[in-house]
Amino acid sequence: MAGEPYGELSRMSRECLFCGAAGPRILTNEDVSPVWLLKHLDLSGDDLFFQGVASSATGKLLQRLIHASWSFNQGSVCSTCNNGWMTGLESAAKPILEPLIDKRRPLLGLAPAEAAIVGKWG
Ligand SMILES: [Zn+2]
Repeated sequence: MAGEPYGELSRMSRECLFCGAAGPRILTNEDVSPVWLLKHLDLSGDDLFFQGVASSATGKLLQRLIHASWSFNQGSVCSTCNNGWMTGLESAAKPILEPLIDKRRPLLGLAPAEAAIVGKWG
């Protein structure tokens, strides 16, 4: 990749972030914030999402990005991961998260297995 200033980044962007699968048209657009959550939070169509990138060494904020909440996608996940384990994890997390968001259930009332699901999802 010598001579390509973003060689490593572009190589990584063609592979699934999770399983490393690569190939033409293998990657899908994954919603960073799931549509069910945006609807549940009753966010307006022009809602914005802040993303900060910080150095793990210094804690210094290196990059500030603003995204449209309803169209913030990430295209580095293969369809097998996106439609497989990721969908399964989200389906398991949703019924745990909704009562937490609505304050119908306390966070400290989660069973260890529920906390593990939410931790993996988030
Ligand atoms: Zn994958």
